[in-house]
Amino acid sequence: MALHVVRHPLVDDVLAALRDRGTPAAEFRRLAHRASLLVCAEATRDLPTTDAEVETPLERTKVRVLGRRVVAVPVLRAGLGMLDAFLELVPSAEVGYFGLERNELTAVARRYYEKVPKNLEDAVVYLLDPMLATGGSAAMAIEGLNGLGASPVRLLCIVAAPEGVAYLEKSAPQTEVFTAALDRELNDRKYILPGLGDFGDRLFGT
Ligand code: URA
Repeated sequence: MALHVVRHPLVDDVLAALRDRGTPAAEFRRLAHRASLLVCAEATRDLPTTDAEVETPLERTKVRVLGRRVVAVPVLRAGLGMLDAFLELVPSAEVGYFGLERNELTAVARRYYEKVPKNLEDAVVYLLDPMLATGGSAAMAIEGLNGLGASPVRLLCIVAAPEGVAYLEKSAPQTEVFTAALDRELNDRKYILPGLGDFGDRLFGT
């Protein structure tokens, strides 16, 4: 499984503010958007393009345009914090949704909703899930997407834990993971350390 940790001074700067417990929800949302733009830019670097032509105000010229269907699938609800950034960079992307809920006590994920575009085998499929903790929910979503024809899946995160990376290496070795940070470890409640807390709660102020 390929792991890409996005190295960029702007990533460091945005992570510092995202990790700060004093950052209010409205600001956290803007920061999550900024971090997502940087991860999405890296993860779309190798998308294929095809030749086209346009008229500039001065003459006709050859250009390159995206040459492949792109599908983004945010995992509800935290993944919604990455979707606008993805669509800002890839406005033509189709969007699907996976609803996964983590049991607070056991940290085991349960799938409660799924709505995904058809014919995923034709598309480059990006799963948006900002916190790769145990890897259980990501693996469940990837298995679902693989079952619908998507292969490989690209998982976009903001923070990943080594435990989650190791879990995906075993359970979904074709997956490519792009993350802004690879943190130290999980605590006994399966939160990432140092992490940034519960991403969904901080995003939505719950
Ligand atoms: N999900 C979160 O939002 N935060 C963590 O630290 C782990 C999983």
